[in-house]
Amino acid sequence: MGLKLKIIANPSSGREMAKINIEDMLSYMVTQGKVTRADIYYTAGQGDAKTFAMNTDQEEYDYLIAVGGDGTVNEVVSGLITGGVDIPLAIYTSGTVNDFATSIGMPTTPSDFARMLMDPTFKRVDCGKIGDEYFLNVAATGLMTDISYKVPSDLKTALGPAAYWISALKDIPTMGKTIPLTIKSDGKTIDVEALMLFVSNTTSVGGFRKLMSLADISDGVLDVLVVKKIDPTDIVPLMARLAVGDHLDSSKVIYFQSDNIYLETRSNQETVLDIDGEKGPSLPVTVECIKQRLNLIIPTEEA
Ligand SMILES: [Mg+2]
Repeated sequence: MGLKLKIIANPSSGREMAKINIEDMLSYMVTQGKVTRADIYYTAGQGDAKTFAMNTDQEEYDYLIAVGGDGTVNEVVSGLITGGVDIPLAIYTSGTVNDFATSIGMPTTPSDFARMLMDPTFKRVDCGKIGDEYFLNVAATGLMTDISYKVPSDLKTALGPAAYWISALKDIPTMGKTIPLTIKSDGKTIDVEALMLFVSNTTSVGGFRKLMSLADISDGVLDVLVVKKIDPTDIVPLMARLAVGDHLDSSKVIYFQSDNIYLETRSNQETVLDIDGEKGPSLPVTVECIKQRLNLIIPTEEA
């Protein structure tokens, strides 16, 4: 008996490769008699992936496969949770900065991905929640996310994570902007002038593979990293430490883990959070960890 698959794909992400990748993956499985049904839902606009995921009949399919960039995956996760759907989920990212896929060692070629589906391991994983929005990877604000908005997406596609670096370095002379942040978590209050803030489910953020070095996607807590206000001359050395994950004992950062983090700013300027690379809510917010809500398909050798 073959698998019944529901595939939600953003055909425009990853330089139009999504359709070709899906065809290759399916033909690999079909030739081995491993698929009896595959329904492909292509998104045409924002919100489609969430709607498709929300309206999934979990009795009708074995697996749900999300194909696209971080935005598509985020919508699928939101749809599953909002719709009360609990079905094994496989993630095939074709966006630029695939932090979640990187963190979990997700296969990147159609045949490897097909092999994972035919010999799957299931892992319950957490996700972040802010109001009625969800994230699989990260909620962030400050310098890195400002840059992420400013870099044109075609440049991001061409350069990948390097785009963040180049823009960061270019912006150094003008970036005195910090956020007067108040963080309340587990009975403690922290007041800090923050250059950047990350609340993350995964180790890799913004292409920095070890930015959240202690993060575990199944441990029921999110990892919080605050980079404090620093002299412009200290930024490049600190970036170098962030890149290799050698920053947890730096006096320039605060790092802790919690399942409930309240964030507000003491400034009257609006501070917007970026959620999985998309514009999210403004402070104040409460970020919660939803423990092991998702049933993720991962490669067996990674289990
Ligand atoms: Mg965790």
